[in-house]
Amino acid sequence: MPIVRKKRKSRRKPTPPEIRVGCPFCWEWVPAPETHFHVFSADGCEGGRCSCGAFFVVDRTGKSGGQARLDAQALACQGDLDRALALRPGDDFDVKTRKLTPETGSRRPVATGHSYLEPQAWFLKLKGS
Ligand SMILES: [Zn+2]
Repeated sequence: MPIVRKKRKSRRKPTPPEIRVGCPFCWEWVPAPETHFHVFSADGCEGGRCSCGAFFVVDRTGKSGGQARLDAQALACQGDLDRALALRPGDDFDVKTRKLTPETGSRRPVATGHSYLEPQAWFLKLKGS
C-alpha cells in the first residue's frame, strides 16, 4: 500500500495579512473579527465567534489583558454586561489566549518603553455550550 502523505502547507493564502489565528478549542481558523460595541471597552473591541461556539476578542496591542477577556465575556453574553460580570472563570467558562503572529514573520514589536508586548487573541468558551 502506498504511503499517502498529507501536505501541511497550503500554497494559497487567501486571508488578509493582519489577523490569522486558530481557535485553541477546536483548532479551526476563526472568521475575521468585527467591531463590537456592547462591551466593556468604550471604544468597542474586535472580536467574533468561532464555528465551535467559542468567542474571541483580538487585542492588537497586547496591553488590554484582562480588559480583552472581559470584552470576550460581554460578547458571550450578547452585550449583557451584568451577566458578563457574573461569569466566573473555570466555573462558567474556559479562557485561552493565542498569540497573533503574522505568518510572514514580520513582527512589529509595540514600543511601550518598558516591555515587549505581543498582540494576542483571547478565546472564551462557555461551559455547556
Ligand atoms: Zn473554535
